[in-house]
Amino acid sequence: MEQSQPAQVSKVRIYGKMGSSIGYMIRDFLHRSDVPFEWIELVDDEDARGLAGVSSLNDSRLPVCVFPDGARVECPTVRQITEKLGWFHDPCRSEYDLAIYGAGPAGLSAAVYGASEGLTTILVERLAVGGQAASSSKIENYLGFPQGINGAELAERAREQALRFGAELLLGRAGVRGDFVPGKGVGYLADGTKIVARSTICATGVEYRRLNLPKEEKFLGAGVYYGAGASEASLCANEDVFVVGGGNSAGQAALHFSRFAKTVTIVAMEDALNKTMSQYLIDRIQTTANIRVFTSTVVAGLNGNEILREITLTNGNTGQQQIFATRWLFVCIGGVPHTDWAVEVGIQRDASGYLITGPDLLLNGASSKSWPLDRNPYYLETNVPGVFAAGDVRHGSVKRYASAVGEGAMAVTFVHRYLSTG
Ligand SMILES: Cc1cc2nc3c(=O)[nH]c(=O)nc-3n(C[C@H](O)[C@H](O)[C@H](O)COP(=O)(O)OP(=O)(O)OC[C@H]3O[C@@H](n4cnc5c(N)ncnc54)[C@H](O)[C@@H]3O)c2cc1C
Repeated sequence: MEQSQPAQVSKVRIYGKMGSSIGYMIRDFLHRSDVPFEWIELVDDEDARGLAGVSSLNDSRLPVCVFPDGARVECPTVRQITEKLGWFHDPCRSEYDLAIYGAGPAGLSAAVYGASEGLTTILVERLAVGGQAASSSKIENYLGFPQGINGAELAERAREQALRFGAELLLGRAGVRGDFVPGKGVGYLADGTKIVARSTICATGVEYRRLNLPKEEKFLGAGVYYGAGASEASLCANEDVFVVGGGNSAGQAALHFSRFAKTVTIVAMEDALNKTMSQYLIDRIQTTANIRVFTSTVVAGLNGNEILREITLTNGNTGQQQIFATRWLFVCIGGVPHTDWAVEVGIQRDASGYLITGPDLLLNGASSKSWPLDRNPYYLETNVPGVFAAGDVRHGSVKRYASAVGEGAMAVTFVHRYLSTG
């Protein structure tokens, strides 16, 4: 059954005040979804009344979204936005050949290959398509894009491709639990929807690691942001921006912000970037006048009122502390998988929570205890037959866009084998 393509939209207008975490959530979602939008920052009560039609800057109806058809939604949730964009669907079938959880590169790739090879395929994504990479301003090492490509644009192309082959996509819906018996898996979504499928691919990736500092939660979306913050870059004009992390995503983010911000400071705990960042990024950082790098340094404190106003940095070698005024702190320090649901189902994880698959199950010696079939598990198969893992969520995976895409495609090959022979 073919799912209709989302209607092309022109700009969504968002009216809100500075430091609104809901405003950030909306901008981030629209940016990742490659939907054009305009953020109109309200500075006083007069603006709030005149532009947004609410009583004051503290009105709980803010932020207000106005869609291209003139519809107005006050303080919307992601689900309300997906509904308004015509992207919110219920499953069309009572049963599928393949259910995929997570629409990052691995899940999107699995959806393209699954649907194009004749499997009835459903793809469930708790937020927006594209996963981590959708927040990247430029992916430069993905084959076939010599000038690089914006992560959100690449995700949008993949989404379109998956839908064109007939995959169903449920956006704004999170898988929270599963029951798997041979030949039939039931995935339960947070809103109570049930997805029944003969095979399952878990492609839920990783979530951004936090700094674990006091007040971090309070400033989330109000000065503290996780990932490369591509939706925020243009709002940082003439500001002092701090990027935490010494890896490629931090390097990419810093270079992107340097086009807008007055200064960009990379705060890395490593004593040199060359241990963790690709040389091509280091070379560019070194020749970008408004980027500076603090190595052997960590963020030790966050301060502000309603929004972040200053951060404290500590030098790990000298113990010296310094306070910097900023309202833009982007945290790019890698991720952790969220696979607690797997414990209940009996799917094996490593000590860090990554799902163990294929030969690694045998290496672990776990197969004799937990693998129920005579054959060995397929390469990307977990210890529950018919449940596969692909991309960053998998133990031992290479944390790269291309690898995630490759694993998504490969998992579908093993799904075919499982469906034909068990
Ligand atoms: C800022 C940034 C820049 C990067 N740049 C590059 C680059 O230039 N080149 C490169 O090779 N790699 C890059 N990477 C790494 C690359 O993006 C990842 O390796 C890749 O995205 C992993 O894909 P994935 O599909 O396995 O997981 P993810 O991208 O993490 O996607 C997982 C998806 O699953 C969804 N999900 C999670 N839980 C659930 C649930 N319970 N139910 C439903 N959905 C769920 C998430 O919302 C997410 O959309 C970058 C990463 C970041 C953060």
